[in-house]
Amino acid sequence: MVRFLYDYMGKFKVQDVGGHLILHSHLPPLNSRAYKRFIDEHLIKNVEGPSHAQVGLTNACPQKCAYCYSRGRKGEPMDTETILRVVRDLREMGVFWLGFTGGEPLLNRDIVRITEDAAADCAVKLFTSGFGLTEELAAGLRDAGLFSVSVSLDHWNEEVHDRGRGFPGAYRTALRAVETFRNVGGVQIGISSVLSKELIRPDKVEEFLGFLSGLGVHEAWLSEAKPSVPAFWSEEFIIPVEERRELARLQDRWNKDGGITVNYLGHFESGSHFGCNAGSKMIYVDAFGEVSPCVFTPLTFGNVRERSLREIFTEMSARFPPSDTCFMNAEYGLFRKYYEGALPLSREHTHGLLEEARFGPPPKFHKLRSR
Ligand code: SF4
Repeated sequence: MVRFLYDYMGKFKVQDVGGHLILHSHLPPLNSRAYKRFIDEHLIKNVEGPSHAQVGLTNACPQKCAYCYSRGRKGEPMDTETILRVVRDLREMGVFWLGFTGGEPLLNRDIVRITEDAAADCAVKLFTSGFGLTEELAAGLRDAGLFSVSVSLDHWNEEVHDRGRGFPGAYRTALRAVETFRNVGGVQIGISSVLSKELIRPDKVEEFLGFLSGLGVHEAWLSEAKPSVPAFWSEEFIIPVEERRELARLQDRWNKDGGITVNYLGHFESGSHFGCNAGSKMIYVDAFGEVSPCVFTPLTFGNVRERSLREIFTEMSARFPPSDTCFMNAEYGLFRKYYEGALPLSREHTHGLLEEARFGPPPKFHKLRSR
């Protein structure tokens, strides 16, 4: 395990951002209490609970991305007290890395209070389009303990980005948000990009990374559009393994050369690294309290208002072994069969689908962990 972590971590440079020593934003800063919890609870004590969680702070969002995993989710939004309870429960279960998402999480008026509460012993990361950000809010989030922000930007071309997001002005909003966080300082700034199939070509990605470097951000958080919604339930949207490997090589090259950190999710989640942790080490609580294995997996195991989060997680993790393959990339076809016009699938259909789902062998990290 030590050798595995040494090799993996050696691929990234440590950046000092406002005193946070950051390898990349999927891991807590190396000098944080959250990182110590990762070592103590997950590597030494080997706790059963999740390590990473995402929580939807609101489903409201002015943008309309075609691939949005939150699109169509409905219900009674969680109030602040419920969100704080969820955060507390997640920490007690072992979560040390917490991503706030939405909708647009900045539209939750209590985001600073929630961040402050969570950041006591979790690394807190914000995923945002930048909509609703002010300098005062950015400073408030930094002072509350936010260590990283990922601003969504899918293309260097303003028109292409705005079109993809269904929102004129999305591009300028994103660039303004980067500028605002840069002015405020003390928070790692990343650009989170959902790469389209057309963009996933080494020369295009290089061009994009060159553009992102010019923005003065610390990290490019790259992912592919996942088949989470009906419009993407097709083989044509799945990135072939060889293209993923090529992107991983490109990531390593960029990180070696220095400058911007490139953090490609397909590398982190590959079988030779941490694999797919949906429902085992990863958990998602949407803005309405429904619990899913990850943001991209439109299944529900119950609502936090009806059952304890621990009970829901126990049921879910029993059905979701860590796997060397992205669950959604492998099993999106089954969603077609169980889909009745609403996502996430009902609990009944969630269980029906899982009777048929196949999981790959455990990824390297989990093989080493269980020795
Ligand atoms: S299903 Fe697994 S690999 Fe795919 S996006 Fe979710 S956590 Fe990542």
